Amino acid sequence: MATPDDDLAGSAVGSDGAHTHEPVPCPPIERYDDGVIGIDTMTGGMSSVTAGYLLAAPRPTLIECGPARTSEHVVAGLRALGMDPDDLAYLVLTHIHLDHAGGAGDLAAAFPNATVVVSDVGARHLHEPERLNRSAARVYGSLFDTVYGACTPIEQDRLLGVGDGDRIELGGGRYLDLLDTPGHAKHHIGIHDSESGAVFSGDSVGVKLPGMTALRPATPPADFHLEAALTSIQRYRDRDPARVYLAHYGPVDPPDETLADADHRLRLWASVAEAAWHEARLLTGRQPDGSELDHVAETLQRRFLDEIEPEAVADDPDAERRLALLNDARSNAAGLLRYFQRREDGSLTPVG
Ligand SMILES: [Zn+2]
Repeated sequence: MATPDDDLAGSAVGSDGAHTHEPVPCPPIERYDDGVIGIDTMTGGMSSVTAGYLLAAPRPTLIECGPARTSEHVVAGLRALGMDPDDLAYLVLTHIHLDHAGGAGDLAAAFPNATVVVSDVGARHLHEPERLNRSAARVYGSLFDTVYGACTPIEQDRLLGVGDGDRIELGGGRYLDLLDTPGHAKHHIGIHDSESGAVFSGDSVGVKLPGMTALRPATPPADFHLEAALTSIQRYRDRDPARVYLAHYGPVDPPDETLADADHRLRLWASVAEAAWHEARLLTGRQPDGSELDHVAETLQRRFLDEIEPEAVADDPDAERRLALLNDARSNAAGLLRYFQRREDGSLTPVG
């Protein structure tokens, strides 16, 4: 749990942690041995769904902030770590899915000196989030209000749109290199920290939640692109990172094996889905009737069932809800089907 962070500039906090005086409870905080500090965003009211990562550099930087609905927990966590409103220099977002970036407007309001760093396209959406909110409300249904909440707009001059090869200087010689890592989403960026040597992979390497024995690819609509996703994993491997931090959830070690495994599992996941898609089309005589999606989702579910530890699920009432929220087989199947269909009809954008 949280303890005040002496390494960070900012107001002093009580020896019992400032969170005892906060109206919102401080979320779980984890200090990793490479200096990275994990702040649980409490997405969906559950722990270990989406992590934010604080880098205690001369220019303190938060990577990912979780959805708007629970952004006050992230603010409480930062405050408990000794961060004054003026202290946060950067909020860096891997992509603008609401479980990563939805709270960015609220964080920007709570930390008025922070620059929000995101892909160029993401910056446009965060400045005028109406379209993002509308499409999220359509996709998430009732979860839009209960889990995600609406993004609030961020002023243009608080946003820094970035692209491949850009570097963010955190002071003291520390910097973040930004890498284009599309596949999961078109405008996904990966982040490589010069000091810890870690990469922050957002959703581009996969998801590994409590109770899961293996990484699971995250292949949702509307952008999922298999070749792009594989190239992105290779880009991380080329950097030979010291560690991989997943947004969902936490560090995975060792990094080289993790990335090799991510590559292998993504290929396997897609090939199982593709075989199921062909099978479904044989049954329906190539007349899409919606049953292809059911068949692919059920096949993925069945084939990868053994990656979920039954004991962990039995002991943790949130385990299944977490998985359903973040890595539901139906959403993964829908992303893959869209990709297969676009590849077949020639409407897929080539990689590179
Ligand atoms: Zn995502």
